[in-house]
Amino acid sequence: MITKTPKNKRQQKQGMLENVMRQFNHAADIIGLNTNIRKILEVTNNELVVHFPVRMDNGEVEVFTGYRVQHNNALGPYKGGLRYHPTVDIDAARALAMWMTWKTSLAGLPYGGAKGGIQLQPSKYSQTELERITRRFTYALGDNIGPELDIPAPDVNTNPQTMAWILDTYMSTKSPNERSKNMHVVTGKPIGVGGSEGRDRATGYGVFLNIKFWAENKKVDLNDKKFIVQGFGNVGYWTAYFLEKEGAVLTAVQDAYGSIYNEDGISVEKLLAFTQANKGSILGYVGALPIENKDFFGLDCDICVPAALGNQITSENATNIKAYLIAEGANGPTDVEAEKILLAKGIDIIPDILCNSGGVIGSYFEWLQNRNGEIWHLEEVMEKLERKLRGSFSKVLKVSKEREVDMRSAAFIIAIERLEQAYEQRGIFP
Ligand code: GLU
Repeated sequence: MITKTPKNKRQQKQGMLENVMRQFNHAADIIGLNTNIRKILEVTNNELVVHFPVRMDNGEVEVFTGYRVQHNNALGPYKGGLRYHPTVDIDAARALAMWMTWKTSLAGLPYGGAKGGIQLQPSKYSQTELERITRRFTYALGDNIGPELDIPAPDVNTNPQTMAWILDTYMSTKSPNERSKNMHVVTGKPIGVGGSEGRDRATGYGVFLNIKFWAENKKVDLNDKKFIVQGFGNVGYWTAYFLEKEGAVLTAVQDAYGSIYNEDGISVEKLLAFTQANKGSILGYVGALPIENKDFFGLDCDICVPAALGNQITSENATNIKAYLIAEGANGPTDVEAEKILLAKGIDIIPDILCNSGGVIGSYFEWLQNRNGEIWHLEEVMEKLERKLRGSFSKVLKVSKEREVDMRSAAFIIAIERLEQAYEQRGIFP
């Protein structure tokens, strides 16, 4: 059966792949990337689409579609999250896998890029159904994932529990002697099953650190600065938590259910407690007033943190943005046309592949600990994360000054040059 995708959904998906390609080609043009290497990086290495049946709580069977796209592994095993969302499809997985390649390359990690997930609305399923869906998806992926081949992690609507189910299912299909060697087949696990201290907050802490480095560079004091956050999941929450600790004030939040605003400030902890008791939704929180979704990005503020889905800042709302800094917690939240408008207005953008790279760096630390049989303390993880991110941020700033380009182009240039060098040194088989 051929099903038609609604127009707005289709536009969003085409947009993500188109955006990452335009970002890549723009940077590739600036550095005059070797055309043969450009041909390789423009396409994904492997694409897996699986359809698998799962029994629902009511006894009926539902068939789901899952994806894993492996874009590139020139620098190491494929790495990237699994997302559970209705917008997941092959183009979304391709776009997100490409962003992972640039992200891991920029961070100097020994990884390539991959992404995947299942096209579904998780709120429609019970925990036991989500467990069976996850386990059956893992089984369908089979040996296309592996601790030295392709290492999934959490992304939108997946979490440490999801990773624990993947780990357990993957291990259960291995011989007893193999099992203990496979702990690092996924990262972002709960601490009790091989997860790392600090991985939970790594992405948000990284977004915060990038904002802090930016502020240091611009000689801006974050105290009393107003910020708005789109998405109050893992990334949005932890970013808000660290910004609030630094004295900045959260004035508005938008999630899948709506938007809320309070110019005097919204307490991050109180909002978290509210959402936990309210099926994850911010709507109805008494410490703020509901506002129209369309007014969110135009609110008066200093810093805007999109930490939800792709293509949220578009040419339609970019002109209204008042913030002077956009820190991309999400992957691909700003489309190429919107970015032109923002840059022309003098707004700085800390690009996703730098801004949210704390997550995959935290994953790398977890993977290393599992591989070496080590357990690091929280302080050690956070210190190492800060050192790594400071290094990335300074490199991006340096290239952006030297080449007189925006931060995204600079970040892409660094990422692509590292891959270019790897291909030049390795050559092409046969
Ligand atoms: N899903 C996260 C990202 O987009 C983390 C990926 C990982 O840790 O492998 O960067």
